[in-house]
Amino acid sequence: MPSPRIDLYSDTQTRPSKGMREAMANAEVGDEQRGEDPSTNRLCEMTKELLGKEAAVFMPSGTMCNQIAILVQCNPGDDIIADKSAHIINSEGGGPAVFAGAMIRPVDGVRGVFQPDQAEAAIRKARRHAPRSRMIAIEQTANAGGGTVWPLDTIRGVSEVAQKHGLVMHMDGARLLNAAVASGVSARDFAEPFDSLWLDLSKGLGCPVGAVLAGSTDFIEQAWQWKQRMGGAMRQSGVIAAAGVYALEHHVERLAEDHENARFFAESVANLPGIRVETDGIDSNMVFFDVSETGMTAAEVHNRLLEHGVRIGENDRTRMRVVTHMDVTRDQVAEAAAALRTVVMEASRAA
Ligand SMILES: *Cc1c(COP(=O)(O)O)cnc(C)c1O
Repeated sequence: MPSPRIDLYSDTQTRPSKGMREAMANAEVGDEQRGEDPSTNRLCEMTKELLGKEAAVFMPSGTMCNQIAILVQCNPGDDIIADKSAHIINSEGGGPAVFAGAMIRPVDGVRGVFQPDQAEAAIRKARRHAPRSRMIAIEQTANAGGGTVWPLDTIRGVSEVAQKHGLVMHMDGARLLNAAVASGVSARDFAEPFDSLWLDLSKGLGCPVGAVLAGSTDFIEQAWQWKQRMGGAMRQSGVIAAAGVYALEHHVERLAEDHENARFFAESVANLPGIRVETDGIDSNMVFFDVSETGMTAAEVHNRLLEHGVRIGENDRTRMRVVTHMDVTRDQVAEAAAALRTVVMEASRAA
């Protein structure tokens, strides 16, 4: 099967743009682990400014940011409170158990977002028998929840609960800038209640690799030691950090187009027979829909769409996910919606 012409599987499918590649080719470089790579230093400076934190460190991936933030702040046996759909629960290979030895207490949120009273209910009383509740982790945007933007008020409410009980706050900000652009709330305001947070450069921002973890000077110093231990410290990382600098300068505002395209896709397929779009809100660049009433599984729809050159994610047996991004134009989104219509109509005629 040739690679799909229109790839809505994930915003990780973005390729570095021409401008980004030029910035990478011209990057000033040095030895990152000695603090001598000017481009990486610049990226960290920009990120800590953007997020209003004391310090930041460049990491190979968002997963490493999550795992190191947990390692620094949680001891073996500690509880992390997170929504049941969280990436740290479902998509990081059980990392919190493997590295920090931490437990996760899943919360039954709505579209990936839980409420302050739910957080409070999940915190355990200090007893000999019980794990120690240590961290509340939220995902901005909540990916498997639907690309949901956590409202600032809800974050503040959850953070008051954390403060009252002496827990730390961690944000998996893989798509924090999508949330900022979609809501008009600044990344800095979203970041304020968090002890640790990071943003991903390799999703909608269009970089080939990388993420930046931020927090207090002391937190980042400890994070650096884990990065070194785990072999995440780099050398001339400026070549890839320059892509991040370029993305923060050129690819943030345009995320609004991805959000418009996601809404456009949702509207285009909402009335197709058998397709049920999760329309509680298309907050950002994701559209989830269920295909069970077409009589097909998500895998079947996925494979038939591939014959039209379109790739859409299959999340479970009947749930599918479309993610818009900078390498897919409005016309291509329309084409993808038309392909889904064809596939669904063929299936309903065959039935
Ligand atoms: C992609 C993603 C991650 C992991 O980031 P990588 O850079 O792929 O390691 C973590 N959390 C969420 C919500 C994500 O979407």
